[in-house]
Amino acid sequence: MEATSFIERAFSELSLKKNKRLWLSSDETRLEDRIRLLASFPICQFEEVFASNLDGKNPKLASHLLDKANLAFAQGDNDTSLKLLNQSLQFAGDSEIGQIYFSRAALWSSLGQDQFVLADLAQALERIENGSEQYLKALEKRAQAHVHLQETEKANAAIEEAQAILVQIRTRLKKNVASGYEKRLQKLLKSNTRDQPLKTPPEALIPSLESSNPLIPSFSSNVQVQFEASRGRYCVAAGDIACGDLIAKDSSYCSILDYSKVREFCWHCFKRLKYALPCKSCTIVLFCSDICQTSSQSSHRVECGLLGSLYRANFGAWILAFKAIIKNPFEVVSSLIESSENQKANANSKLSDDSPFISKDLRSFDKLVGHDSADSGTTTTSKLVKGEGDQTQQAAGLMMEALVTLFLLRCLEHQGYFPPETPPLSSESPSAAFAFARKLNHFMRIAYFNTHEVTTTDKNDNVSPVTRIGRGIYPTLALINHSCFPNYRRICINNVTLGIAIRPIKRGDEIADTYCPTFASVDKEARDLALEKYRFACNCSACSNNWPQFAHLNNNSDAVTKAKQHLSKSEEKLLNQMRKTRQYNHHAIQTLQKYITFLAEGTQPCKELVTSENELYNCFVRKYAGEYT
Ligand SMILES: [Zn+2]
Ligand SMILES: [Zn+2]
Ligand SMILES: [Zn+2]
Repeated sequence: MEATSFIERAFSELSLKKNKRLWLSSDETRLEDRIRLLASFPICQFEEVFASNLDGKNPKLASHLLDKANLAFAQGDNDTSLKLLNQSLQFAGDSEIGQIYFSRAALWSSLGQDQFVLADLAQALERIENGSEQYLKALEKRAQAHVHLQETEKANAAIEEAQAILVQIRTRLKKNVASGYEKRLQKLLKSNTRDQPLKTPPEALIPSLESSNPLIPSFSSNVQVQFEASRGRYCVAAGDIACGDLIAKDSSYCSILDYSKVREFCWHCFKRLKYALPCKSCTIVLFCSDICQTSSQSSHRVECGLLGSLYRANFGAWILAFKAIIKNPFEVVSSLIESSENQKANANSKLSDDSPFISKDLRSFDKLVGHDSADSGTTTTSKLVKGEGDQTQQAAGLMMEALVTLFLLRCLEHQGYFPPETPPLSSESPSAAFAFARKLNHFMRIAYFNTHEVTTTDKNDNVSPVTRIGRGIYPTLALINHSCFPNYRRICINNVTLGIAIRPIKRGDEIADTYCPTFASVDKEARDLALEKYRFACNCSACSNNWPQFAHLNNNSDAVTKAKQHLSKSEEKLLNQMRKTRQYNHHAIQTLQKYITFLAEGTQPCKELVTSENELYNCFVRKYAGEYT
């Protein structure tokens, strides 16, 4: 009997029993078959998702919020007013948004934030009718802000423009109103004499690498990537690295904020928002400036309107594959596909010696480990296909992966990412038409294995100053392998991540990150469970020597006494003081680095070393968050 309904077909054609080969091999031809099968179901057009437009604007809500904001402003509650205005802006359509920017400019003005006044007035003036009284009002406020900022030339130009408009519309204004404008503008002109632009305080400087590895510029010249067929790529110290050395500075290739953070951080640069500029079309995304908005334009165009659905679908790291694609125009991805179809490069090969590994380069990103076929990878033990239980699990995983690939592809089709003549992918499409889906799937696997957390620093939290705000792929940092006792730590500053040696690393030693909680914080079983997704059995020193967790580590008072012998009395005092007050300064950090250097000499870490390394990490986090005292 022929199965007809979706549910009948789903059960008969997707079943592991009937289609065993389809769901048990992760290789590419099977992937194509899987997507082909799924594409034959009409439900996989996902029409209801694309019809819903849940991220669209809501002018009614916007004007309601504006009323409430104005009320709060009148009552002197600036914080509430600002919150409501921000929300109102997100929901506003073209016709009311000028008015809301105008209101927010007034609020910024009473908060003394003249830069933000100017930014909002620029938005308002684009939308308010030229020649209306409100237009004149906006020009007057703009002139005021320039005068406050002591930007004499700009202020003069702004005053002149306001005066010209006043002449134009004077007959339409009441006499006393017109002369009011005239007097105020003249007064502004008189007060506009100083020409010393106010200095804005400098932002915390992100440090740079002293010298970088010419082949992998996001690494310092002290870091080298090596290759062994049995274990894949790994990073080693090319020279002795001191505790506290900056060994990497990497930018994410692609990243995305967690949904819970989209209201607080810039969609493009991940800076905490003081000033927020909403996307003109959707209600999800905010930018810190029109520079960030413009930089995001070409990629955000493809995701705009779908983000609500993408967030609700909860794809985890896979969403970054979509971000990696839309960062590039179709032609760029397409030419990558052509060249990789030609050479079918093994993703886990040696990094080519002649072309540098550049984090912002799509071709470097494409070389990250994706474990695309069962036999590739840095694995010591392959977790693929072991017993019936594992098979069922893998089948479900592969089906999910194929479904998400198809969904993301449909998103790209729906948003006009492909050239206009491209037919939508169907179960009848020729094999070549699946090349894009294969690349998307490859990126999903890269995302699955190479994603790091993006964090922010909470300046007020002394104990755990770091909070997760999203996820990102830092291609160069992703080259660093795992150990349960990592010797380097990552510190995020907006969309840049620094890598810092947390203890000395001798020349030739491997540099290691940690993909799970460290040995000191959880037991071996929990670590193995967390590492399962990466498909390797960890044999770091902690694992192979069965090091106990923190509570059972020895105090190793010998090591502590020895290390302290290298410190002067005043250095020891400084260290104690820092621990008591949690106040860090440059000298204290240097002393801590020196202390760790001697503490780390033993074979098994003692409690004091683990504690001190965590302290040093916290120092660096706060130092780079601008909390350096
Ligand atoms: Zn920004
Ligand atoms: Zn948008
Ligand atoms: Zn381990």
